[in-house]
Amino acid sequence: MDNGQRTRRVCNSTEAVHAAEEGGHWGHALTVPIAQTSTYVFESMESVDNFVSGKETRIDYGRYGNPTQHIAEGKIAKLEGAEAAILFASGMSAVTTTILGMLSSGQHAVIMDDCYRKTAQFCNMVLRKFDIETTFVHAGDYEALEEAIGEKTRVIIAESPTNPHLNVMDLDKVVSIAKSHRIKVIIDSTFATPFNQRPLDFGVDIVIHSATKYLGGHNDLIAGAIAGSQSLVSAIRDYRGILGGVVDPHCAYLLIRGMKTFPLRMARQNQSSLALARFLEGQPKVKKVYYPGLESHPHHKVAKEQMAGFGGVVSFDLDTDLEGTRRFLNALRIPCIGASLGGVESIVSHPSTISYYELAREDRLAIGIADELVRYAVGIEEEEDLINDVEEALRNI
Ligand SMILES: *Cc1c(COP(=O)(O)O)cnc(C)c1O
Repeated sequence: MDNGQRTRRVCNSTEAVHAAEEGGHWGHALTVPIAQTSTYVFESMESVDNFVSGKETRIDYGRYGNPTQHIAEGKIAKLEGAEAAILFASGMSAVTTTILGMLSSGQHAVIMDDCYRKTAQFCNMVLRKFDIETTFVHAGDYEALEEAIGEKTRVIIAESPTNPHLNVMDLDKVVSIAKSHRIKVIIDSTFATPFNQRPLDFGVDIVIHSATKYLGGHNDLIAGAIAGSQSLVSAIRDYRGILGGVVDPHCAYLLIRGMKTFPLRMARQNQSSLALARFLEGQPKVKKVYYPGLESHPHHKVAKEQMAGFGGVVSFDLDTDLEGTRRFLNALRIPCIGASLGGVESIVSHPSTISYYELAREDRLAIGIADELVRYAVGIEEEEDLINDVEEALRNI
């Protein structure tokens, strides 16, 4: 498939508003009602028989599904161009359930070093307990990736773009390496979103999202999702039923509401982020800007080929010390200081104190987390206001 086609095939607002709602309006309600129930009833024992024998597909208990949740799942499947999608109680529940579902004791996975912190901890602390080994390779080093694959390797786990350095994986390359070894690829696409990139179109097997971020988009819910083929997703759905990380009906409703404006928000966040990145790059008090939309980014070429936009997170190193960085963060008027991203409100994070505080400074530096590193998650505020605010705060360094 050529890249132009892939770029055109990213999701749009018509899909985001209407997908999975074609089934009719329950009680004539325009919006999807919240089915606030824990369990579901059978009309008769014959109906139970039909369910048990598989003649009738329906829900029997809330841990296995919910009508509101199914609409949200249908929307995500449509946005990702997937046969199926399922929701989880959090992005981490999606990550852990998927990996546990796809790997057995004695098997091995290759994962990129620049991955979400808790995903790395899951590999090091949980998988290891069950004799599942993981090898970390540098994101973007395809030779190391290939070398790390052995007899027991079953999956490659990667994110693109990564957090906080916005490294971009060449999905064609990763998929072709995986195919040549007959193993599967999982991509955490939280930072890209289906508006900017659809990994399944590249042959990736499972896409993971922290729906807490751009899909929900309002900093008011915690949820996760996966999308992929019917067979793979349904196998992981069975693990979800056992491990129990389901999303509640009200959260599913909020997610549906959030997703209706997701393409609108994302278009704006892409645009403001690129403008902010370009502005920062021209500032003497900014040492380095990490944003895949900039020509200076090492993965710009790949990003341009495989993404329709570059996302809503801009990271940068200030030309100062820890104290100067703290002054800068305190001086910002619009974004709040916090740990999340992807919502309508801009949020700034200081990775070395917020996410990597338990590492020694040298260990943080070894993975590129300098004291002067700032991660700016751009919201939907006016681009001009955001830039003026940053310009003012830079004076406080
Ligand atoms: C936030 C995040 C997660 C975890 O998601 P939660 O919804 O917080 O559990 C996983 N991966 C990435 C890339 C994230 O940004």
